[in-house]
Amino acid sequence: MSAESLFRQIEEAFLVINPEQSQPVFLNEAACKLLSLDKEQFVNSSLWLQQIQPLIKGSTPPKEHFISFQGRNYRLGFSQIHDDQCNSIAVHLSEDSPSEETLHNFYDLVDNLGAYVFCKDTNFNYTYANQQVCELFSCSLEEIIGHNDYKFFGENTGKELIETYDKPVIEQGQTQRNEELLFVDSINEYRHYLSVKKPLFDQDGKVRGLFGISTDITQEKKTQTQLRESELRLRTILDNVGAYIYIKDKDRRFKYINKMTEELFQRKSEEIVGLNNFDLLGPEQGEEFDQTDRKVFELGKKVTCLETFTTPDDILYYWSVKIPLQSEQGEIDHYIGISTDITDQKRLEQTVRESHQELELRLEEIKKLKDELQTQATHDSLTGLYNRRYLEDHSPLSFTDPSRGTTSLLMVDIDNFKSINDTYGHGIGDKALKLLADTLSAECRSNDLICRYGGDEFIVILPNTPQDSALMKAEWIRKNFQLNTPDTLAKIKQISISIGIATSPDNADCFEKLYNAADKALYAAKKKGRNCCVTASESQ
Ligand code: GH3
Ligand code: MG
Repeated sequence: MSAESLFRQIEEAFLVINPEQSQPVFLNEAACKLLSLDKEQFVNSSLWLQQIQPLIKGSTPPKEHFISFQGRNYRLGFSQIHDDQCNSIAVHLSEDSPSEETLHNFYDLVDNLGAYVFCKDTNFNYTYANQQVCELFSCSLEEIIGHNDYKFFGENTGKELIETYDKPVIEQGQTQRNEELLFVDSINEYRHYLSVKKPLFDQDGKVRGLFGISTDITQEKKTQTQLRESELRLRTILDNVGAYIYIKDKDRRFKYINKMTEELFQRKSEEIVGLNNFDLLGPEQGEEFDQTDRKVFELGKKVTCLETFTTPDDILYYWSVKIPLQSEQGEIDHYIGISTDITDQKRLEQTVRESHQELELRLEEIKKLKDELQTQATHDSLTGLYNRRYLEDHSPLSFTDPSRGTTSLLMVDIDNFKSINDTYGHGIGDKALKLLADTLSAECRSNDLICRYGGDEFIVILPNTPQDSALMKAEWIRKNFQLNTPDTLAKIKQISISIGIATSPDNADCFEKLYNAADKALYAAKKKGRNCCVTASESQ
């Protein structure tokens, strides 16, 4: 009996294959029924061409193999048959139904999937719902099966779910993938779901219902919204902060620029992002910015600097802060830059600096003028000595303070000065006056006060000097003046001075009295024949 006639009589589903031809030689009636295919259809089916044929082609088939075909699972058992004509392979076909344990594990898995899993029939009534669906609806599985979404979502949402999302699956056999915003009665709030709904087919390939899996993405949606909002807020801040803000990568390519930076470069963000400093600004200006950009990556820390940007009609100044940004791996691969236009401040600074310099110059001039005025007010312009005014302002002090001790006053006067003027001219007279001033300055101490009192009359105040010392000093001056004259005033044949000396407190207790006493002594000296010194004590 041939294998074919043997298997024809067996009620189990079998397939007999001749491996040499790689063609099924026989498909028994039970197999046709099990697979819902006749021999012709089987030979052209994906089951044969893609699943069974590759198993036997060129190698020994496995003992057992599991396959899926048209939504059903099958077990294939392979046995070699050796008869007189040829070697064949008998394939036993049986529907592979999962064990109870497998089923239990499967449902357990579905219940704990973290998603809503359900099946519906062609009337949109639930035929299955996992535990998560039961919890959402606050119903038992029995209360769900046989009912549709009108019951669980109310009139409006139920209708929308069925009409919009379920109908295309049931009526057109389409797979639907949608984001659904649904109001859930049982929890009294809107939830976002990501739902995938696929048609389920019967043995004839007709839609017998749908399978759906929905994930609650409400939290993700909220996070997305928050993210979008905070991005918007951040963008608004960055665009209105009044500074140029930009992000660059390690190659100093722009990754982000704010609105103000767009306006500065007069180009849109899309045109600038991706460019480096040189692409955007050319070799010179590009290098200036690139230098500080490189520094951020070299140092790995915040860099602050003054940058300039040259436009055709101006130089703009920026104070820039460049802060390194780390990747998740801790590598510094970007930096964020914040540049503030300080051109106005710079110009103001320059103006202030210039005004300040100008002011200092003016102040110096004023000070000079003031000093000059003061000198003019207190000094004699011809000799440079103190003048009468100064003496009168300061001398009273010298005599009212008893701690100053003995003070002498010399009244010095050129003899016959009028005739010197008349004989040699006023210019020579002036030279004689200067010579006397120089002599007095050279012979007096630093704390002695020398003053041109008027005309050819000079007063010298000698602190801590008794009369005899004052007389000695006067004599010394008189002689030295005469010694000096031949060199400087060669023309003048005869020039001399007379000196009247008065001492406080011996002769007076105030300047006025002392002055008068010295004047009297001088008068006496003139009377005595000039070119001599007379003390007040002598002249009394
Ligand atoms: P005596 O010996 O009695 O002092 O006689 P004298 O001619 O010096 O008389 P007096 O002291 O009264 O004369 C002062 C003269 O000094 C008068 C004036 O022409 C002259 N004189 C005053 N101021 C200046 C000056 O600045 N330059 C010159 N060249 N002469 C002056
Ligand atoms: Mg005189």
